[in-house]
Amino acid sequence: MPDKLGSDARPLRVAVVGSGPAGFYVTEALFGGGVQVQVDMYDRLPAPFGLVRYGVAPDHPKIKKVIKVYERTASRDGFAFLGNVMVGGDITVEELRLHYDAVVFACGAETDRRLGIAGEDLSSSYTATEFVAWYNGHPEYRERSFDLSHEVAVIIGVGNVAIDVARILCKTTDELKHTDIAAHALLALADSKIKQIHIIGRRGPVQAAFTPSEIKEFSDLADCDPVVEPADLVLNAESQTELDDPRSAPARKNYQFLQEFAARSQRTKSRRFIVHFLESPQEILGDGKVERIVLEKNRLAGDAFAQKAAGTGERSELRCGAFFRSVGYRGIAIPGVPFDDGRGIFPNTEGRVTEDGKPVPGLYATGWIKRGPSGVIGTNKPDAAETIKNLLADLGALTPCAQPDRAAVMNLLAGKGVKVVGYPGWQRIDAAEVARGEAEGKPREKFVTVAEMIAAAGVE
Ligand code: FAD
Repeated sequence: MPDKLGSDARPLRVAVVGSGPAGFYVTEALFGGGVQVQVDMYDRLPAPFGLVRYGVAPDHPKIKKVIKVYERTASRDGFAFLGNVMVGGDITVEELRLHYDAVVFACGAETDRRLGIAGEDLSSSYTATEFVAWYNGHPEYRERSFDLSHEVAVIIGVGNVAIDVARILCKTTDELKHTDIAAHALLALADSKIKQIHIIGRRGPVQAAFTPSEIKEFSDLADCDPVVEPADLVLNAESQTELDDPRSAPARKNYQFLQEFAARSQRTKSRRFIVHFLESPQEILGDGKVERIVLEKNRLAGDAFAQKAAGTGERSELRCGAFFRSVGYRGIAIPGVPFDDGRGIFPNTEGRVTEDGKPVPGLYATGWIKRGPSGVIGTNKPDAAETIKNLLADLGALTPCAQPDRAAVMNLLAGKGVKVVGYPGWQRIDAAEVARGEAEGKPREKFVTVAEMIAAAGVE
C-alpha cells in the first residue's frame, strides 16, 4: 500500500510557478493546510517577489514592506526557491508533472492589452508595462529607451498604474533619488524635458479606477501643478447617483481631490499634471514617431453603475512626444497549460485549471493568471486560500508523481545548464543591492542584468 500523499512518509510535493504575492500566499496556505508538504517555488528571474519588486512604484516603499511576510514563508522547512528557471522553457510542464503531485501557476499577467488604433506601433508609443519595468530595473527592460525630449506626454488610462507612470514623470530628481528607482532611469528622467503630463480616461471622474491616496499625491508635488477643467467634473444624473451611493466612498474622495485641483487658480510650478475625462484616443499621428493624438469626446450611456462611454463624434488633436497606454495587463500562455486567449488567463474554476470546462487533474492557478489583473496585493491572499482549499480537497484524487525528489529536479536542470538561484543566493543578491544603495542614500541599488545577479548570488 503506497504512503498517503501529505503524510510524514510521503509529503505532498507542489511546484509553485511564480514568486509574486500570489505565489507566496499559496505557499503559506499550503504550509498551513494540515498536511506534510514540500514547495518548490519557481521564478524565471533570479529575484523573487514579482510585481512587488518590479511593479510597485519606487516612491511607495511602505507597500514593499509586505516582503517581510514573504520572507517568513521562505524560511519554512520544506520550502525551496528555484530562481532563474523559466517554466515552459528551462523546464516543461510535463517535466514538472513528473516531479510534483500538483503544480500551482502564480505567474501573473505580464503583457499588456492593446488599444487597437492606428499609430500604436509608432516609435515613442509605449506601454505602461515597459516603462514601469524599466524604471524598476527589470532585467528584460534595461535596454529600453524612452523619448523624454518633447514637452508633452500623454497617458491613456486612469487606473493606479497610469497614475504611477504619471507621477514618475511629474516628480523631480530630488523627489526620486532616495528611492530604489533604477540608476539608469533616474539618469534619463533627470534629463526629461516633459512639462505637461496628460492623463486621459474614457469615462468620467466618478468611474475613474485610481484610488484616493494615489490622486491625492498630486496635491503637493515639488514642481508640478495638478490641472482639471471644471467642465470635466460636470456629472450626469446617473453619475451623481453613483457618487451618492454609500458604497462610493473612494469615488467621493477622488471627486473631492479633483474638485480641489479644478478650483486652483495659482499655477506656479514648471510641470503640469492634466487630467482629462470622457475622451478616447482614435489615432496616433506622426512621421515615424508620435507627434499628435486624435481624441474623441465621449458621453456616458446606460444605467448608473453600468455606464459605458459612447463617442460623440467631436474630435480634437493634442500635440505629443511620448504616448503611454495603460489599459490593462494580460497573462502569457505556457505550453502544456490551457489558455483563455480572450481573457488572457488560465481558465479555471475557483483555482482548478480547466479544459473545456473540466478540471485538469493536478493543475491549479492563483493570482492574476487566475482572475485577471485586478485588485491590490492583499486581494491575492483570499484568492490563494480558495485555490489551496480546492487543491487539498482533491488530495485523495491526485496521482502521485513518479519522481518525488528535489535532487532529481536539480539534476535535470543542471543537465540542461540552467543556473538555478536558490533562496540563499537571492539573500546574497539582496545584501549586495542594499550595500550598493547605501552610498547613494537609496534603500537598494538593484542589479539590472541577470548576469550581475547570478554573479552576486555566487552561482557557478
Ligand atoms: P506577479 O506579481 O506578476 O508575479 C508573477 C511572477 O511569476 C513573477 O515574479 C514572474 O517573474 C513569474 N513568472 C511569470 N512567468 C513565469 C514562468 N513561465 N516561469 C517562471 N516564473 C514566471 N498592488 C498594491 O497593493 N499596491 C501597489 O502599489 C501596487 N502597485 C502596482 C503597480 C503596478 C505597475 C502593477 C502592474 C501592479 C501593482 N499592484 C499594486 C498590484 C499587485 O502588484 C498585484 O496584485 C500582484 O503583484 C499580483 O500578483 P501575482 O503573484 O499574481 O503576479
